Amino acid sequence: RPRVLSGIQPTADSFHLGNYLGALRQWVSLQEDFEPFYFIADLHAITVEQDPKVLRERTLVSAAQLVAAGVDPARATIFVQSQVPAHTQAGWVLQCLTGFGEARRMTQFKDKSAKGGEGAASVGLFTYPILQAADILLYRPQYVPVGEDQRQHLELTRDLANRFNHRYKKTFRPPEPYILESTAKIYDLQVPEKQMSKSIGGQGCVWVLDDAKVVAKKFRSAVTDSETEIRFDREAKPGVSNLLSIHSALSGEKIEALESAFEGRGYGDLKSEVADVVLETLTPLRERTRELLEDRTELERILREGAGRAGEVAEATLRDVYDRVGFLPAT
Ligand code: ATP
Ligand code: MG
Repeated sequence: RPRVLSGIQPTADSFHLGNYLGALRQWVSLQEDFEPFYFIADLHAITVEQDPKVLRERTLVSAAQLVAAGVDPARATIFVQSQVPAHTQAGWVLQCLTGFGEARRMTQFKDKSAKGGEGAASVGLFTYPILQAADILLYRPQYVPVGEDQRQHLELTRDLANRFNHRYKKTFRPPEPYILESTAKIYDLQVPEKQMSKSIGGQGCVWVLDDAKVVAKKFRSAVTDSETEIRFDREAKPGVSNLLSIHSALSGEKIEALESAFEGRGYGDLKSEVADVVLETLTPLRERTRELLEDRTELERILREGAGRAGEVAEATLRDVYDRVGFLPAT
């Protein structure tokens, strides 16, 4: 089975609807035909300040949500990034292959450092796409399922793979992105021009672990527009379009079918129906996550085994990398 690899950061107490539709749901369906490696990206999480106790808890809660969403530890390797040191080691080698100007062009850095200004951002936030390239290349996957926001990073990963292969010897496999257009980007319910994001959170962010009442309220107060017509138009009607995308992604109904079903009805109807559709998926997911967190020994076992399996694959690639770069063997 061809390999796939993907990661998610433990940067909030819960994943959000965008993570579920843009990532987790794909992760589950890919395990049928692929050999998946899925990791909790705690090394990436510390590119912005994290409270140590909170980070540890979020890492476990993240793993619980993966399993609750249906990622099957018997078919998929689930692991914590920091428990496989090869990622950092390969990351350094790739940093030395990356041009400063090349790293500067990554737009996520500009977005994420915008708040405190570039000077306040960590160097880790600047170089994290390079670590991400190492995360991926160590496993030689064919596909990397990600949301639209990661397309540029994946392009960098391909460039670095080709550069290394060309400069030394064919070692890495340039991976392809696996992006489902319909769920590529879920937007914030309050600011529908911005993507829903863990680090922004707020009333416009629907958490997987939110109580039903909270979810319903967030949809009720979703920002729409001053018209009354329910139709998909990303430019002119970002709020309504986002609600239609979410509905369609979860109910499986086509956008056009939804537009005709909602003809002559108001925004209130749309919001409450979307909330219902969302809760049908999120409620069981939330309950399973809670159950898994009651006794953590099982989760810890899954992560220990995952780190073992991932470590074997990653270290084998790292040995090739070190050898080709010209490092003296350690033993
Ligand atoms: P942070 O704000 O800390 O960056 P995030 O919400 O962007 O968190 P990540 O951990 O960076 O989440 O990304 C995990 C996965 O979820 C990635 O594959 C990413 O493409 C996807 N993803 C994140 N936000 C969305 C979104 N709004 N819509 C669709 N997919 C998303
Ligand atoms: Mg992100």
